[in-house]
Amino acid sequence: MNTSTQFDRDYDYIVIGAGTAGCVLAARLSEDPRHRVCLIEAGGSEQHPFIRIPAAVGAAIMSPKFGWGLTTVPQPHVNDRRIPLPRGKVIGGSGSINGMAYYRGPAQDFDDWAAMGNPGWSYAELLPYFLRSEHNPEYAGSPYHATGGPMGVSFPTSRNRLCEAFNAGIAALGYEYCEDFNAPEPHGYGYRQGTIWKGRRVSTASAYLRPAMRRPNLEVLTRTHARRILLDGRRAVGVEIQTGEGVRRLGARKEVVLCGGAYHSPHVLMHSGIGDERDLKSWGIEPRHHLPAVGRNLHDHPSAFVVMDMDDPTSYGVSWKALPRDIANIAQYLVKRTGPLASNLFETNAYIKTRPGLDRPDMQVVFQPARRNIKPFPIPIGHGFVVAVVCLYPKSRGRVRLAGPDPLAAPLIDPALLSDDADLDALIRGLKLARRIIAHEAFAKYDARERAPGASVTDDDGLAAYIRETLVTVHHPGSTCRMGPRGDDTVVDHELKVHGLEGLRVADASVYPRVVGGNTNASIVAIAEKASDMILGKPAPAPIERRAAAAPEAADAREPVEA
Ligand SMILES: Cc1cc2nc3c(=O)[nH]c(=O)nc-3n(C[C@H](O)[C@H](O)[C@H](O)COP(=O)(O)OP(=O)(O)OC[C@H]3O[C@@H](n4cnc5c(N)ncnc54)[C@H](O)[C@@H]3O)c2cc1C
Repeated sequence: MNTSTQFDRDYDYIVIGAGTAGCVLAARLSEDPRHRVCLIEAGGSEQHPFIRIPAAVGAAIMSPKFGWGLTTVPQPHVNDRRIPLPRGKVIGGSGSINGMAYYRGPAQDFDDWAAMGNPGWSYAELLPYFLRSEHNPEYAGSPYHATGGPMGVSFPTSRNRLCEAFNAGIAALGYEYCEDFNAPEPHGYGYRQGTIWKGRRVSTASAYLRPAMRRPNLEVLTRTHARRILLDGRRAVGVEIQTGEGVRRLGARKEVVLCGGAYHSPHVLMHSGIGDERDLKSWGIEPRHHLPAVGRNLHDHPSAFVVMDMDDPTSYGVSWKALPRDIANIAQYLVKRTGPLASNLFETNAYIKTRPGLDRPDMQVVFQPARRNIKPFPIPIGHGFVVAVVCLYPKSRGRVRLAGPDPLAAPLIDPALLSDDADLDALIRGLKLARRIIAHEAFAKYDARERAPGASVTDDDGLAAYIRETLVTVHHPGSTCRMGPRGDDTVVDHELKVHGLEGLRVADASVYPRVVGGNTNASIVAIAEKASDMILGKPAPAPIERRAAAAPEAADAREPVEA
């Protein structure tokens, strides 16, 4: 195939998907003005107050303007419910609508990736990329943090008083305060940082892409859907796109880099004829390359929660009692960019080991000092709080499949939630622990009432039924184009090249050998940073071994402020 005559336009690199990973890749690949880079994004601009203001996160997630509107297929183990799966369809992708919690994951997770046959992916080898991406003066002097990188990271400038009660409740169970959740072995409870800078959300769109968009060698195509990757024999040579004006073909002289995320990267591969050939044939798609693991191994973190209501107005939220305070908070944000509106509202949490003998936390306990609305609404109405428990190493595995031959149709997403009983058992254990935290005397003065599961639900069967009725995921899907040595359950090699093909890499949450035990955004930024070095043929930075010394205390140990 002669590319110059076959394509409407030619580039050196085409990046599909301007999400967390894609924005990093487009920015890094276009640093050299000799490279012509094209970034293709199905969604539109992220320049909107819902995305910019941290406390508007609920509105950003719920707005159809910024999302794909995906759900699971009916889940047999959770009462056949279709669980909503928010995913960003906007510049910045899911990083433009996420909860902004900054968490890398325990070092052991990355060492496991390397041990699964992925040289170059151990913690020591990835730490330089975490540092390269970060601007985090609050931990200045720590060997695990850096300043000068693109992603601003900080503690929210507001700490709701209820967080103190949560911290007291979990401390009473014997867990210790964690000074730094992003040191190599995080464990315990405490305040956590977010990708928030000067009161505004930081995404890879704001940190990497926007500054790079001034470059004449980077073209960003928004509201443009990548229909399929074009192959010439075993080589990716371009991308077929669809815009409001119709279908066009773009050529990639060097590489196509797929960053569509855990649901859409396998979707685009399958529409390109790369996947399980039997499935592809069943939809009339010509198989070009048999790779049965495309779309498989899907897993996400399942979560259950205890919901408390109260009349006391201490929690974040809107009520007549809280109106003067809420108006003052808005004024504070408009004038100073600080206060509750500059917070992601999830200010404290815990990563804990729930059983003896574990080498890393198996459960996250998330504290939300705001009422959970009975009907979905972007801001909390009334007062209360939520203690959510998250199973960090779920055993259930599901799959992304095609719904049909139309590349614009949504994929069928089946995370097979709770298909392994171990995940349900973990969540039952977690709910019991959440109730013990809430039972602590520090909460007594708030006189809160348990709305869910409800006082009458006490035994394991009742808790299991409650979990099946209410389970959600915390939006960390991955591993659908798993990295590993060639075999039936991997899609890319340790250089993120699609097995058996040339000129095509995948770099996003889909390549996780196993999803990290915690929030995922930071590790995806590191994956993308490393991918850019590999694509450009740059030598890997020297590994940074774990230091024996504990990271120093956070420079900013501020007092909780009144919400
Ligand atoms: C509601 C929510 C809350 C979260 N909270 C946190 C948190 O607090 N902390 C944390 O660390 N992580 C959080 N996460 C997870 C984290 O944000 C994601 O794991 C991460 O953003 C995924 O990055 P990605 O690059 O793999 O995919 P995405 O960021 O989803 O990017 C994929 C991009 O590709 C585009 N795309 C897909 N298909 C096509 C196509 N065919 N053509 C063109 N474009 C296409 C999409 O529109 C999107 O922009 C959250 C996620 C969500 C959704």
